[in-house]
Amino acid sequence: MKTPLYRLCPSNPKAHLFSVELHLATPNPKGQVLRLPAWIPGSYKIRDFARHIVSLTVTDEKGEPVEVIKLDKQSWQCAPTERAIVIRYEVYAWELSVRAAHLDQTHGYFNGACLFLMAEGFEEQACIVELQAPDKQQILAPWRVATTLTPESATPFDFGRYQATDYQDLIDHPVEMGNFKLISFAVNGVPHDLAISGRCHLDPERIRQDLTKICAQQIGLFDELPVQRYLFLLQVTRDGYGGLEHCASSSLLCGRDMLPQPGMAEVTDRYCELLGLCSHEYFHLWHVKRIRPLVFATTHLQSEVYTRLLWVFEGITSYYDELALVRSGCISTERYLDLLAQLITRVQRGSGRLKQTLSDSSFDAWTRFYQQDENAPNAIVSYYSKGALVALALDLHLRLATGGAHSLDTVMRALWQERGEGITEDGFEQLAMQVTGLDLTDFFAQTVRSTDELQLADLLADFAITMRWRPAAHQKDKGGVLTSASSQPGVALGAAWQAEGQDVRLTQVFDQGAAQQAGLAPGDCLLALDGVRVTANTLEQQLAQQPIDTAITVHLFRGDELLTLPLHLQVAPADRCELRFAPEADAEAIERYQHWLA
Ligand code: ZN
Repeated sequence: MKTPLYRLCPSNPKAHLFSVELHLATPNPKGQVLRLPAWIPGSYKIRDFARHIVSLTVTDEKGEPVEVIKLDKQSWQCAPTERAIVIRYEVYAWELSVRAAHLDQTHGYFNGACLFLMAEGFEEQACIVELQAPDKQQILAPWRVATTLTPESATPFDFGRYQATDYQDLIDHPVEMGNFKLISFAVNGVPHDLAISGRCHLDPERIRQDLTKICAQQIGLFDELPVQRYLFLLQVTRDGYGGLEHCASSSLLCGRDMLPQPGMAEVTDRYCELLGLCSHEYFHLWHVKRIRPLVFATTHLQSEVYTRLLWVFEGITSYYDELALVRSGCISTERYLDLLAQLITRVQRGSGRLKQTLSDSSFDAWTRFYQQDENAPNAIVSYYSKGALVALALDLHLRLATGGAHSLDTVMRALWQERGEGITEDGFEQLAMQVTGLDLTDFFAQTVRSTDELQLADLLADFAITMRWRPAAHQKDKGGVLTSASSQPGVALGAAWQAEGQDVRLTQVFDQGAAQQAGLAPGDCLLALDGVRVTANTLEQQLAQQPIDTAITVHLFRGDELLTLPLHLQVAPADRCELRFAPEADAEAIERYQHWLA
């Protein structure tokens, strides 16, 4: 069996078309089957990448056409032949997200799952990938290549031949081609690169220093870095956000205002978000890429694969992404407590937490978390956010119950050592009990398989942290300690909205709030409150001036029909969390606090 060869060219950037050839010297003589994945690991939604293949033809080694029939939405079968064949196809690439493919005159980016057909029977075979440079007339500036695919004959950051050990490996190394900025650094002697695409200005030294500290912190937790090099691929846009983990790299999308600027003294909220995102995807190189649910070990990416463990993989990762920022000294402990308070606030604000368990949230990710509609806060709970809170609760509980001998850190190290082929559906819980010697049956039953409220206040008090609830100071208040005291008495509409020019459009209506009780709906355009015109700039102020629990009229358009409804505004609920270090706490609690965040 000769090694399959993929030859890929960004052949037509103006039409956003990649041309791909797949050379098979020894196809299945009974008729070679070809497939493209329906989804990409790390992003649990059916995306049907094959719909972007715009033409596909097959010829044999003599140049004679070989007939191809379509088997289903993502599979093809060639007519039987004893000869070598070449499959040629073009793929439309015009989605600038971390999980897709994109091509224009300024740069190209792709995930292999979007471009590389899998030849049935060759899944376990090594293959060669030849990345061809675009025609110079087609692009605006010279391009180079950033990828963690293993070079065969290609020189670093150049076009040429790369190789993969099998199909899973082939599609686990996204590729950026363009004229990106490159920031290089070493962590524990291992080369790391950050390739930044998109127009932007930043302080490269700042991000180099911060990423070095964060990566070193994560490596310290697992005590081992299982890669020869690591690559952060960062695409900068006006207001993008996203990340996707890979075995030796991650794809990140961020807004321009998330980058550190020269002379920036402190970590801004937006830069903190970027560091958290990098930290999150880096943690995944151990946790989900190598420690993974057993059901993902034999995944063929043709249809949904269900697991109740997404909270373990995304929740624990979300807990450690920000914890690494404080432990590495990138942010202060006060800042970290604010981030935690905001996380607690996010979970608390959705009544979905009382309806969906963490285990069900994981299982139903495909059709619920990944296909959220306007009712999501009332119907589901995020396995990221609540998962991170359960990880926090577990960490603190283990520290308390074992007198500091164990923690989530010791469980994670054991999980890394014992990962094997994959984690069975009850494997994480069993291992946590084995490692710590504690019976955690009730803990997991309550936090993972019930919708009971998490009991965080008492746990945090044992770590010298005081938890307090307060009403929102304004609509964008995410929780945490307020820097200036709110002068407004809290009045709540019980809805989220967005500005459309001067207009106010409701986007979400929360359970039991004033808006829902008045019969307001997502999509409604508010016109007047108590007979006075409402605008996006004045709504918050107008709300604050209304009486509470007294009927006022609200005028609105639903579609193109005018409605007039009575509305009883409510006192703003105390649903924003604040966490503060309590210096008056007993010495043991303070010692636990220091040990935890050190
Ligand atoms: Zn993640």
